Amino acid sequence: MSDTVEGGRRTVRFRNDTPIMHFFSIQSAAYAVTRDRWRDVDLAVYYHPTHAYNVDRMVTAMKGSLDYFTERFSPFQFKQLRILEFPAYRSFAQSFANTIPYSEGIGFVATYDEPDKIDLVTYVTAHEVGHQWWGHQIIGAGMQGMTLLVETLAQYSALMVMEQMYGPHQIRKFLKFELDNYLRSRGGELIEELPLERVEDQQYIHYQKGSVAMCLLKDVLGAEAVNRALRGLLSEYAFKAAPYPTSRDLIRHLRAQANPEQQALITDLFERITLYDAKVTSAVKTHRSDGQWDVVVDVDARKLYADGEGRKTDATLDEPFDVGVFTAEPGRRGFDDSDVVLFERRPIRSGAQQLRVTVSVEPTFVGIDPYNKRIDRNSEDNVRGVDLSGI
Ligand SMILES: [Zn+2]
Repeated sequence: MSDTVEGGRRTVRFRNDTPIMHFFSIQSAAYAVTRDRWRDVDLAVYYHPTHAYNVDRMVTAMKGSLDYFTERFSPFQFKQLRILEFPAYRSFAQSFANTIPYSEGIGFVATYDEPDKIDLVTYVTAHEVGHQWWGHQIIGAGMQGMTLLVETLAQYSALMVMEQMYGPHQIRKFLKFELDNYLRSRGGELIEELPLERVEDQQYIHYQKGSVAMCLLKDVLGAEAVNRALRGLLSEYAFKAAPYPTSRDLIRHLRAQANPEQQALITDLFERITLYDAKVTSAVKTHRSDGQWDVVVDVDARKLYADGEGRKTDATLDEPFDVGVFTAEPGRRGFDDSDVVLFERRPIRSGAQQLRVTVSVEPTFVGIDPYNKRIDRNSEDNVRGVDLSGI
């Protein structure tokens, strides 16, 4: 608005186009700047002049995020969006109104020489841009479940951008990383593990469990239904003062978009601590005289509910699971869409059971929930190599 120097002191006044939270960040440095545009929004990345390595990747992620979120959620509320590097004294990025301070140590100096590496720069950028909606357009009530509305929805937003950029068959890499982190961390919980709807500021729940839960929800309800629920939440609460939304309001909007058979999944994902234990115990292929391959897959599956101290009780499992047949191992180096021979949903129940499929290409791996969309106590044994029969 104004920029004046008086008595050796520079005074700059800013005014935003839309209401913002009383929450802002100031950086000052001898920056290099990369500028770009997305529609009528000015994009900028401010960085240390020798740290240009991933700036283009960040700009691409900003554009991909704005594309997805404005089309599916609601319009972007500002005319500018900026990322600003800060030194690696701390390793985080944080979203303020149209401004994202971003540590040198979390993306600016990362290298992407190995093709296997998770694209954390895109993931983090999309997550932070997502907060312009989740945390800035809507602000959760200061109570249990608040970070479900902020962090879990930013994780979901980031996963959707990753899926758009890398395709649905690359999602295991990200989900397995999140799931393994959740499983490791819940073992170290000192007080009480809470379900997502009552999460305190517990990072392993609102980030890691949140990602996996939202991904399965999106798979079962469809992205359209989940995004309709999020639009409903935004239209009810965006830019409004108290009463602020709670996790119950999000769950109410999700339930409104789910059919009667899908309600139990919402209960399991948000209101309970639900764990699965699905594994492939053996997989055998036989070459048929017509050139096709019969594959017999032995599966063992369980579903459990846990309480806050980790005590588990068995639950009856009877749900459709993803089943995949592949010519390479999902989530590993070189795995791509051409390695997916068959991918479909099959009903899975508690205990041992056998699945049979016939495919036209010789398979090398099979999996039950092969991309780790469920909170499974062991993310490794869902996928197994296929043996040749008679050996
Ligand atoms: Zn966040």
